[in-house]
Amino acid sequence: MSDLPSYQSPIRVLYDRIIDSFYENSSLTIKRLDELVNNGLIRRGIFFNPEQCALKTPKVDLVSQRIEVHEPFMSFLWCLCYNFIFLNEATQKLVVEDQKVIQINNSTTTGLDEMNYLIGWGFSLKDAYSEWPEFMPNPTDSDLKVRMANVLVTEALKFLLYHEVAHLANNHVAYLSLVEKPAKELTQEELFELKVLEAEADNYAFDMLIGPELNDASYNQALGCIVAQLSALFVISGPAKLKQQRHPDIDTRLFNLMNKIKFEDVRYQMNIDQTLNMGLSFFLHIHQVSYLPADPDNITWHETFDEVLRYLYDQIDKEKA
Ligand SMILES: [Zn+2]
Repeated sequence: MSDLPSYQSPIRVLYDRIIDSFYENSSLTIKRLDELVNNGLIRRGIFFNPEQCALKTPKVDLVSQRIEVHEPFMSFLWCLCYNFIFLNEATQKLVVEDQKVIQINNSTTTGLDEMNYLIGWGFSLKDAYSEWPEFMPNPTDSDLKVRMANVLVTEALKFLLYHEVAHLANNHVAYLSLVEKPAKELTQEELFELKVLEAEADNYAFDMLIGPELNDASYNQALGCIVAQLSALFVISGPAKLKQQRHPDIDTRLFNLMNKIKFEDVRYQMNIDQTLNMGLSFFLHIHQVSYLPADPDNITWHETFDEVLRYLYDQIDKEKA
């Protein structure tokens, strides 16, 4: 008798694709990862932990060099990707009507109840494990939105994995005593040092996934980075947790990333900005922060996405204190 659980999450269909794409993202990733393996700095392989427990974010063990991703985290991330694709499509349909503020609700968008149910399930994984709900979209389906979500979750997860690789590649094991020290015992300088390591790892992950140039070929990767960083917003329990002790604040990391992703092609840039706009708005929405201005039809600040995003960041900043 085996006591292995018999349930197989549909997210598993993506494991091979993720691991292949993680290695073969570009000639740079192949070269760097091979070097790291040959120098004994990383292990080949990622541990997809099938444990049926509440969601845990990806992590690296600096001593054993094991990089671990929990299955529930991947399901959570997939639901988030699918949600952004769904909302993006809904927004694009509504944008032709020339409204200043687009509101997605049951009267404007079909399929919203199903979407809310699915994302609600994804978020519930933060508290407890459960099986993928039946009759809901999942990664084994073949429709276009699902295929797009499969691409996006792969890129987003690669960003998070390269971030963990960075901790090994940059020899952060030298900071092990710092990393393992309880937060309340850390001095201000030590906390600063830890934040520098994290920022370094974010930059490394960006270089690995996107490389030196933003172009047609790196669009999915760029969107994946944004979604990976947005996902951190949805793991926390509320705006008060935006301020981090060991990491740079979540909104700061997102802001830094946003400033690095500026496509010349306006169509690409518009989808990136749109996703950031949706992500920040959705975060405020689920935490019941009223962020819409009182008279949305008579406002003038939102002529560009930059202004919209600045407005949303300001709203988030107010909640942070
Ligand atoms: Zn890290």
